[in-house]
Amino acid sequence: MSVTDADRMSGNYAPVLDAVVGQEAAKKLLKTSLLSPVHAYMFLGPAGTGKKSAALAFAASLLCDDMGCGSCAHCDDALAELHRDLVVIEREGSQISVDMARSVTALAQRSPSIAKRQVIVLCDFHLAEEAATALLKTIEEPPEGTVFVILTEEITQHLVTVASRCMQVQFNPLADDLIERILAERGADAAQAHEIALFSRGSLARAYMLLEDGSFVTRRKIWHDIPDRIRAEGAVVAGIVDDILASLDSLSEQLLEDGKQELADAAASAKETGGLSAAVRQKIEDGTKRKVRRVRTDELRAGFSELIHGYYQKIGSSYAGEDIPVAWQRIQRLEEASLALGRNPNEEILLTSLLFELAYVN
Ligand SMILES: [Zn+2]
Repeated sequence: MSVTDADRMSGNYAPVLDAVVGQEAAKKLLKTSLLSPVHAYMFLGPAGTGKKSAALAFAASLLCDDMGCGSCAHCDDALAELHRDLVVIEREGSQISVDMARSVTALAQRSPSIAKRQVIVLCDFHLAEEAATALLKTIEEPPEGTVFVILTEEITQHLVTVASRCMQVQFNPLADDLIERILAERGADAAQAHEIALFSRGSLARAYMLLEDGSFVTRRKIWHDIPDRIRAEGAVVAGIVDDILASLDSLSEQLLEDGKQELADAAASAKETGGLSAAVRQKIEDGTKRKVRRVRTDELRAGFSELIHGYYQKIGSSYAGEDIPVAWQRIQRLEEASLALGRNPNEEILLTSLLFELAYVN
């Protein structure tokens, strides 16, 4: 099929962007924008929704001589993060540091070496604090030929001003059936793909993690069994809480191991320069803590949605009617608990009080 100039001018041509999973609205906006790119884009949305893949595809489209044909060296190199005019800034340790911000500012002044422009992608920018302020001027008015793509999970107070200088592109949680289809393509059997999709809460990254995760079925069963198991008795509630906490611990184990390894590697490479500084150590430890917290929070949120889903089904199948207000109250309580997770609560206290409340409602 030959592509006409009319296709290109319609703002509907960018094969490399079409290959990105889901996010139709974001892709449409980006494709239209290719006709006349602005100097900074902010991709906003939860983890695991494909912001990074979309950023690489968008960078390829900006660097390619044919709006992201998907088959030239510009496209190939950009997708593989090997293109000389593409810089992807990942945080070191817990956040993008002010030092990194300074080197980004210097990089932004470069002229593109082989493409018509250069693209700078800033990952995990919701974790930037002072660095966001330090970069504001550069992002606001980058030199001709430099395009920023900023990836963030939320607009924090440090990001409000930066966000106002960017074209915002919203990334949404992926639909369950889309995740299910991708998992099936990766070799998951139909039932497994379905289960995992429901439990991945719109995050493809989480879905992949669950696919590799042998204990997923056991963990899901804990949540599935709660409505039958629960009674307003201390020992029963404590037993369920213990099971949930143990399943969270098994999930964080590998991350803690990885964190230890990261510390050991950093210490080994810092040996010649007088050992690991307290600040670097702290950053690595904070980074590990943040990853562990995210995995545990995601798991609890997924568990709560599992329960909510169960109670909704109860409402749907209840002819008697008297169960409905009870189920509603439980759903409300679970939604509150899900929100409370954002405030970094003590897991044991949160779960214990939640389970007692679920048991008492009747
Ligand atoms: Zn190309």
